[in-house]
Amino acid sequence: MSSAVETATHEVLSGPPEDLRQGLSDFIAECGEPSFRTRQIEAWIFETGVRGFDEMTNVPPALRTALGKRFSLTPLEPETVARSNDGTIKHLWRLDDGERVESVLIPTRARLTLCLSSQAGCALGCRFCATGAFGFRRQLRSAEIVAQYRESRRVAEQELGRPISNVVYMGMGEPLANLDAVIDSLRTLHDGFGLGARRITVSTVGLVPGIRELARRPEPFELAVSLHAPTHELRLELMPIEKRYPITELFGALRDYQARKNRRISLEYTLINGVNDDEELARILADQVHGLTCFVNLIPFNPIPSQPDWKASPRRRIEAFSATLDERGVPNAVRTPRGRDIAAACGQLRLSQT
Ligand code: SF4
Repeated sequence: MSSAVETATHEVLSGPPEDLRQGLSDFIAECGEPSFRTRQIEAWIFETGVRGFDEMTNVPPALRTALGKRFSLTPLEPETVARSNDGTIKHLWRLDDGERVESVLIPTRARLTLCLSSQAGCALGCRFCATGAFGFRRQLRSAEIVAQYRESRRVAEQELGRPISNVVYMGMGEPLANLDAVIDSLRTLHDGFGLGARRITVSTVGLVPGIRELARRPEPFELAVSLHAPTHELRLELMPIEKRYPITELFGALRDYQARKNRRISLEYTLINGVNDDEELARILADQVHGLTCFVNLIPFNPIPSQPDWKASPRRRIEAFSATLDERGVPNAVRTPRGRDIAAACGQLRLSQT
């Protein structure tokens, strides 16, 4: 066994699930252990909340030690845990190089959703976003994305007594700007942890090449698009990404995505008082989505320090916007922001700690 344990530590969950299987089974063979150990170890990783190989009690102690020297399960340490009155639990995780990212557990009666981060910070600078305000730090590795799920799953079971039912890539960062790691993590959640593809949503501000890449994948992952404005001019004011991928190109990619996947697409629209909540904009939005099977989530703006003048739209403006979409046959719903008392919107906990 000694020759097998003297190399550097590998993150066992970085890379697609077949790499994990191959890496483990090669190592088990090197150690002269029977091949069933690979399945045993995989079961510990995917089906339980163990944080290290030393907790795998049906694996021989010498093999546990050897595994721990060769591989890492990328345990994350929480720097802060915030619990909201509405049941939302937000973690600020400290990564091995000191970077910090957030994930949020959001319980409702029907679902327990985990919102996770795909980058430390974000380069895209959307003006309504707390994460955008402090810029890009680095890409997350697939293992770090998956680790948020693993750690949160344990918290969910211990504190909420139920499993995570849905995962959304809607925390810090733009998932399609970290495409390889995100796809590896999606595949690991799906093929390894057994989460149904329809329970996993990738949320993007509209990186067209990434949308096209997701469309080519065989799994029917859900797609959500942060739209926030129905015209090129207004979107450009709110979201610099509009310069690279204008709204017409974005909708072209969404129509192609739908033609391939036959899945409803979610459109996220944050309503900022006097900025993007005019009824006329709702009419333009309805024209824009004509022929696309979509659902519009209307989200009252969550105030952030970098935009002191922006406020959430008042109730009557939100209702008028929603009614205009209703009249034009565009399915929509007003979403209640969760965890406001713990700064649960993307990037806010990280921002409050700087
Ligand atoms: S909304 Fe998303 S893409 Fe835009 S700055 Fe925030 S994290 Fe980045």
